[in-house]
This record gives sequence, structure tokens and C-alpha cells, in this order.
Amino acid sequence: MTRTLVRTMGAAALAGVVALAGSTALGEIVDADRSGEIAAQIDSSTPRNVILIIGDGMDDSMITAARNYELGADGRFALDELPFTGAMTTHGLKVGAGPDYPIAYVSDSAPTASAWSTGRKTVDSRVSQGPSTALEVAGTDYQTVLEKYAAAGKRTGNVSTAEITDATPAAAASHINNRACQGPATMATCQSALKSNGGKGSIAEQLVDNDVDVILGGGASRYAQATQAGPTVRQYAEDQLGYRVVSDKAGLAGVSSVEDRPVLGLFASGNMTPYYSPLVAQPGGAGSASTTCQPANRGNQPSLSEMTRKAIELLDNEDGFFLQTESAMIDKQEHASDICGAIGDLREIDETVKVALEYQAENPDTLVIVTGDHSHSTQIVGGPSGGKQTATVRTADGDPLTVAYSTQDSGSAHTGSQIRVAAKGPQAANVLGTIDQTDLFDLMLGKVPSTPAPTATFTVPATATRSEARATGIAVSSTIEDADRVRLTVEQAGRTLLTTALETGTRTTKVRVPKAVEGELVLTLTATGEGGEVERTRTVLVVR
Ligand SMILES: [Mg+2]
Ligand SMILES: [Zn+2]
Repeated sequence: MTRTLVRTMGAAALAGVVALAGSTALGEIVDADRSGEIAAQIDSSTPRNVILIIGDGMDDSMITAARNYELGADGRFALDELPFTGAMTTHGLKVGAGPDYPIAYVSDSAPTASAWSTGRKTVDSRVSQGPSTALEVAGTDYQTVLEKYAAAGKRTGNVSTAEITDATPAAAASHINNRACQGPATMATCQSALKSNGGKGSIAEQLVDNDVDVILGGGASRYAQATQAGPTVRQYAEDQLGYRVVSDKAGLAGVSSVEDRPVLGLFASGNMTPYYSPLVAQPGGAGSASTTCQPANRGNQPSLSEMTRKAIELLDNEDGFFLQTESAMIDKQEHASDICGAIGDLREIDETVKVALEYQAENPDTLVIVTGDHSHSTQIVGGPSGGKQTATVRTADGDPLTVAYSTQDSGSAHTGSQIRVAAKGPQAANVLGTIDQTDLFDLMLGKVPSTPAPTATFTVPATATRSEARATGIAVSSTIEDADRVRLTVEQAGRTLLTTALETGTRTTKVRVPKAVEGELVLTLTATGEGGEVERTRTVLVVR
């Protein structure tokens, strides 16, 4: 395997294999320099479309384990090949008296999804609402990026392999004090959100009340619950809001437009079925060097990539769209210490990334972001004794891979490490370095350049006598900010008579034009700074 040699051998050893990979003058560099290619991908414009792909619990450890299994140690997922990759912090807040709240170093999916959805930090279990003194006390609703896109006249979509009312998809388009209040039957801790109390209702109700054009996922049981007004949420969505409800792959395939009616796809009573059947880690070790993950029977459920492909097809329009699509079962299977389930949903997210990148290639004004929400517990370890619960599988390399879950004696919990964020398209370069989850909010809306563009205004007299123009000078009053260089050019009848520098700030300069004759003078002011260049033009009529 040439590729393995090249990737793993040191520079000195590479001299011997360089002929296999293309040589350079020094005979040590394997791949061509990528600087130009990367520079060409930087695009500071505001995206027309956003496709935000979330892997719940998807951290670098889980990505590596899934990659080892599916593709081998030298493999690369589509998500590995995005042009810009950065690190992202994901901490949240704890309830308190405020205005400053204690930091929660390990967050759940509610505040983390709220962070990119609203640009603000909040407390555990809270959905796109600010922090408060206790979980039962509602915070302030913050408008989400999906809502902002909708308000701008764009289409919106929300897709998940979990219940669509689960915390991650909930944060895109609902606001509630506790993520547990997914449907009207579980509102005990969200009294102020009850519609009878003047609130916005449960998460299930809010998602459809928010007129999201495409809603696809699990969670049919939440929509089967009766609203306070009587009908189920599903009936309410169909009868009052015009939703078309589909419940399987064929039903979804039959939807060809959301022009007139939005679509609500509910493909499982609870969470959807992961791609692989479980392999649950055990104290002392489950699986072996010959164990492979087995595809599960998912019946008529569509896969995440199928749901995402359909969502993009339905959302695609001239004005643009916002789509959040979540591979939720990475996290849920990690909680169950199930390595195969988690790998399967990571495989699904990568198929989804390919679908998004296909669309992006045809529509380069689309920002694609691939990230997780918080880190999790899957660790790659040396063998079955490497943690509290372990499991071993045979990878694509044909070698054993052991993972451990050690946060708890059984089951597994979130951890607090920074995670990967990768992107392509307008604004994508803003993920470079170490950013915070809240930074994604501005980025998805189109960040304002950090270096302000120069501003320039100037006035001149409407007329000047020939002797004023030639000897006294024309009074040029200018106000110029954020510029390094200011140039004034004077032209007459297409001929440049003078080019001179002006100072920045507010001042009046007497500009003498010795060659001026009667007729129109055109004065062009050009201010240049780090943030760009502006040009302003004025005319002076020279008279006798
Ligand atoms: Mg989630
Ligand atoms: Zn979780």
C-alpha cells in the first residue's frame, strides 16, 4: 500500500518512495503545495443557502473510530475533505441569579444547539431561550437563524434521525425552558409555555406553528398527542396549518413541492433506526478481532441522506433556504455504549455530506457546515482492558479496533472537549482556528467584515473662476475614515490635469489646477484602506 508508506514514513525515508508519489527538487515533498487552492476557496460573501449538518455527539475520537472501521486508518471521509476545518468550544451555563452564570464545562444538546441557533449561551436542557434562576423558570426567547432566514423570505427545513422534537432540531425553531416538553402530554415542567397560559405550546406544536417548510424525522408519538384545544398535534398541523403528513420512504418520495403546502414527515414513533444493529460494550470486552457491524432492518424508514436529498430538492428556490439536518443517533448509541450503532450514524452523516456537497458544487453560494454539538465518551484504546466497558471490531484494514466507554459503569455520558467544525462555501473560512459554537450564528447570517471599508464624502464649489482654479485653489472639503491612502485626480475633457494626495479626517484643502481652462473639471477622490476602496466624483464648472 503506497499510500500507507507515504503517509506514515518520515521525510528521510520518503526519498526512497518518492517516485511512487511524484517527485520534487528536494525529493521529500509528496503532495503539491495547496496554498493557492485554499486561497481560491475563501469567499466572504453572505450565503444564499445554508446547509448545517450536525452529528450529535460527533467528536474527533468518534470520527476516527468510524473512519478506521469503515475506510481504514488511511481512509478519508467526505467530511475530512472540506476545505476549512477548525476547532469549536461547546461549554454552556448553569442556572443562577445572573447576570453572570456559572460555566457548565459539559453541555447537553439543548444549550449547544441553542448556541449556534441564537448566537447566545444558555443553560442545560434549555431550548433557544436565555438562562434563568431555575430550569422551570422560562428565560428570554432568542430568535433563531432558521427564523431569521424565514423572516427574510427564504424556505426552511429541519431534519433529524431522532424524534424531530428532540433538543437539537427543537432549538432550530422553538423556544422552551425545558427540552423535556416535547409534546402536549409532557408539559409539567413548562407551565408558562402552555398555550392556555399565553405561551407558544410544546415543541411539537411550535415546530409546525413556525411554518417550517420541510420537517422530517422521528417522533410520530409526540404528534399523536392531543393539544389543549382537542385535536392531536398532527390533526392541528394538517387541518389548521395545511401540512401534508408522510410516514414512510414512499410517501416522502411522492412529495414533489412545498410551494403550496409544507411537509411533515414522521417516520418512526420515537427515534429512527440506526444503520447498524447494536454492539454494546461490556466490562471485560464485547466483540472480537473478527466482529463486524451488521446492517439493521430499517423497514420503510428513509435514511438521513435520503431525507436530506429530498429536503434540498424541496427547499431549492431562487430566494434561498436554511436547512439543518442532524445525524442524531451517534450520540444516542454512544449513551448506550453501542459502537456499531454510533459508527452507522456517522456513516450516514458522511453520505449526507456528499449529498450537500453535490448541491454546493452546482450552487456555490451555499454554505455547508459539518460539525457536532458536544464531545462524547467513545475512546480508542489499546485493548479490552482499556476502560470500564469495551468493545472490539475488525476494521476495513482487517485489524482489531477496541473502543472504551469509561464515564460511567454502564451506559455512557457526554464529555467537555472542543470538537471539529468544517465548512465549504461563503463564510466558510471563518471556522478556521478555534471558534465558539455561538460564532456559527453570525457566520450563517454572513459576518460583517472585521476591517471596516473606508468612508469618504467631499464637497466642492459648483463654480470657480479660472484664476481661482489656477492660482487660489478650489476648496475641497473632505471627510475620510478608515483609509490609508487618499488620492484626488482632476480631469478636464478626458485629460488628467493633476493627481494629488489628500489627508484623512475632516479638512478643507485648496487644490490648485494650473492647467485648468473654462469648462467642467471632474474631481475623483479615491480612498483606499485594508477594508477596501471607495471612489467619489464631483464636478466644478470653471468660468471666466
Ligand atoms: Mg440531537
Ligand atoms: Zn447525548
